[in-house]
Amino acid sequence: DIAMYQAKAGGKGRVSVLDQGARGRARDKLQLVADLRAALDDGAVALAYQPLVDAGSGRPVGVEALARWTHPVRGAIGPDVFVPLAEESGLIDALGAFVVEEACRQIARWDAELGLLAPRVVHVNVSALQLDEHLPELVARTAREHGVGIERICVELTESALMRDPDGAPHVLERLRGLGVSIAIDDFGTGYSSLALLRQLPVDCLKIDRSFVSELAEGHPEITRAVAALAAGLGLSSVAEGVETEDQARVLRELGVTHLQGYGVARPMPGAACATWFAGRAR
Ligand code: C2E
Ligand code: MG
Ligand code: MG
Ligand code: MG
Repeated sequence: DIAMYQAKAGGKGRVSVLDQGARGRARDKLQLVADLRAALDDGAVALAYQPLVDAGSGRPVGVEALARWTHPVRGAIGPDVFVPLAEESGLIDALGAFVVEEACRQIARWDAELGLLAPRVVHVNVSALQLDEHLPELVARTAREHGVGIERICVELTESALMRDPDGAPHVLERLRGLGVSIAIDDFGTGYSSLALLRQLPVDCLKIDRSFVSELAEGHPEITRAVAALAAGLGLSSVAEGVETEDQARVLRELGVTHLQGYGVARPMPGAACATWFAGRAR
């Protein structure tokens, strides 16, 4: 790249400057990994919960758990940054276990507070690297420990996670499904999964990526319409992600999308605020 070219052209002195820069970045990253490891122990990583609602009635049906990290110095660091960091550094199993545990604890708490008004399902995002035989075991054990019915858990996986191990992934999904966990494909339409594979996999739900929902306003409903029809044809539910406006919600209902999620419905929020939101939506 350009920096390397300049470093070479500039001779020895430049190379050592470059090396210092690279070494500094590596040190920053190691520090951030250490901080993340500590954060998982001391409560600096938490879950926010974003509601999913029935597209027709607006009735709330569940929530998606989204990991949040508040760094003592850098402030909020998004999962787009720290999930890949956890994947690279061997912390993804610890993060994954934390997320499942915290989600189950929260469901049990909501049940105690809200009874039948509690969210019926909590969706947890699972990394490609977690998609192995330990995952069904982890979910089953954690749900049991918290007295939460396993059918209250939905695992969200991206197409690329499924395609990373096309031979092994179906077995893991079968096992999860056999236990009673439901399965959603996240960001559907942005990856490269084959439609034939979709029919073979035990999937319950397709989540239509936000990029397609935001195209609706520009007069491009084609992909959203096709995915909603595909889901309906296969007997799956469909969730539109990133619904921000009432106009989008109306078009999505017309296109036959079954569920909505997005800032226009509700933002991700802490567990207590989410309880209030669900209680306020009771009808
Ligand atoms: P995702 O699972 O597709 O989650 C949806 C993302 O879109 C979330 O970002 C959410 O806050 C955001 N979002 C929801 N509604 C709207 C909207 O109306 N407008 C816009 N602009 N954004 C909206 P977030 O929380 O930053 O998460 C980003 C990604 O990080 C997630 O994408 C998921 O892939 C990953 N992630 C989050 N939490 C976890 C986790 O606990 N484990 C793993 N493995 N990945 C996670
Ligand atoms: Mg998700
Ligand atoms: Mg998504
Ligand atoms: Mg998305």
